[in-house]
Amino acid sequence: MTNLDPRSLIAMAGLMASLMAVVLYFMRRYYPPSIQGIGYWASAPMTWLLATVMFSGRGVFPDLFSMVIANTLLLLGTTAFYVGCRRFLGHDGGWRLWGTVAALAALLFTWLTYGHPSYPLRLGSFTALMICIYAANLRFLLRHGGKRFPVRLVEVVLALHIAVLAVRLSTTLVGRAGSDLMEPSLYQTLYIGAYVLTVLMLSIGAVLMATDRLTTELNHLATHDALTHTLNRRALLERFEEELARSLRTGRGPAIMMLDLDHFKTVNDTLGHQHGDAVLVHFVQCTQAVLRRGDRLGRYGGEEFMVLLPETDIDAARSVAQRIHTAAASGHALDCQLSIGVTTWHGPGDTLDAMLARADKALYQAKAQGRNQTCTA
Ligand code: GH3
Ligand code: MG
Ligand code: MG
Repeated sequence: MTNLDPRSLIAMAGLMASLMAVVLYFMRRYYPPSIQGIGYWASAPMTWLLATVMFSGRGVFPDLFSMVIANTLLLLGTTAFYVGCRRFLGHDGGWRLWGTVAALAALLFTWLTYGHPSYPLRLGSFTALMICIYAANLRFLLRHGGKRFPVRLVEVVLALHIAVLAVRLSTTLVGRAGSDLMEPSLYQTLYIGAYVLTVLMLSIGAVLMATDRLTTELNHLATHDALTHTLNRRALLERFEEELARSLRTGRGPAIMMLDLDHFKTVNDTLGHQHGDAVLVHFVQCTQAVLRRGDRLGRYGGEEFMVLLPETDIDAARSVAQRIHTAAASGHALDCQLSIGVTTWHGPGDTLDAMLARADKALYQAKAQGRNQTCTA
């Protein structure tokens, strides 16, 4: 394998880092503030870029910059990436411990540059510290990051770079570290090459994580009601269609309920619109608490809701309706009364529209019979 010139590789790392920093800074600007951590992720490649500039000035800049500060900046950039991951997943901390470590490391590097100059010792201690920060980041993501692809990608990149650094550390310990970073040896080519790839892949991982989160948030906005956070009408009807398609295969159909709060206009008129909103939220919480796993509640519009009960017959649906009546009138200040219309699947010829019409008719009947009750159709 050809040994590449370390300076060219380092320049490439700088180029990657600057491009990724620009991408991440723009993302931080235009992504919603609910997505935390992008600022830290942007400052990581920025800090790595500064480190790269310092490294490439070896022999031109004083050693304080090209050795001590360059290595410290690499540690700080890596810490910034870790802190970004923590913020992204809603966790504080990270800076105090690793910032202190970086400050102490700067002292150590100074000593190993001026007091007791030793390239292997400086390289060994730097590599060990990088392994520690990466390992902390990897451990954190494995614990809190979930299983989605972008997080998995970052985990793999961290694990691979830890492995490369571990090899580097062991070659240093057995005295094969070389004499200088700029020596064009196979080891330096591999280590700096791995660093270039890591800078690129970690930044891409950050971009993917943020984009994945944005997609999830937009998807939630498109399918959920902003006030009560239940499914909105469109999403609920989609689930309903899916359930009907499933019924054709299984032969067991769903029940649906239309629910309408009684005299809700009076609640608004007498106690105010905000109180009305609070009643809607409270009603949804009460109802969700008594639904079974797999039952879906959605806001059909205004103070009208719909519940989809998969594979449910009329008796089971009636008992769910009774539980909802009881939960909504348990003595809480925001309690309300409601009318419910229930219907079940009538077999393969039944359709979404026909079921909705029957549930609506049953609801109308419950209203006509004096409200605060359930009728079936
Ligand atoms: P009924 O017993 O016949 O259902 O009477 P009602 O007053 O509940 O029905 P009506 O359809 O006359 O009034 C519904 C009210 O619900 C009117 C509307 O202002 C109110 N409403 C709809 N959406 C919201 C909302 O998001 N927040 C609040 N506070 N009120 C809402
Ligand atoms: Mg009403
Ligand atoms: Mg209504």
